[in-house]
Amino acid sequence: MDNVILHVDMDAFFASVEQRDNPDLKGKPVIVGGISERGVVSTCSYEARRYGIHSAMPMFMAREKCPNGIFVSGRYGKYAKVSQEIFEIFNEVTPLVEPVSIDEGFLDLSQGKMKDGIEAARYIKNRVFKEVGLTLSIGISYNVCYIL
Ligand SMILES: [Mg+2]
Repeated sequence: MDNVILHVDMDAFFASVEQRDNPDLKGKPVIVGGISERGVVSTCSYEARRYGIHSAMPMFMAREKCPNGIFVSGRYGKYAKVSQEIFEIFNEVTPLVEPVSIDEGFLDLSQGKMKDGIEAARYIKNRVFKEVGLTLSIGISYNVCYIL
């Protein structure tokens, strides 16, 4: 039997939390990270990515590329709390959750309540959006288990 595996990853996680909590930031280039000149970009919104900004870029470079960007020092305690809420939903879908980072993980559906990858992915996207107010992307694949 093949195990269906989901890879779930929040969209621009830190920047999306900031946009969710402050509607003035919606639709704007939001850059989260160390805001001093020696800091680096942790996450940026999709609007900021259009300026060529990406994670791990030195903050001074991000400021050059997007002088009108909104630079936010991260609220990491808040992101950890939101992460907990998201993983609670993942854990309801299957007990086999392997976190990769604060906003990303693998879900093995073999012991879950939903076996169908697309059904589980839709369910997760809907619940996270309704209950947490954020979007995520999900990749679906499988592991082939051979018994030798
Ligand atoms: Mg992510």
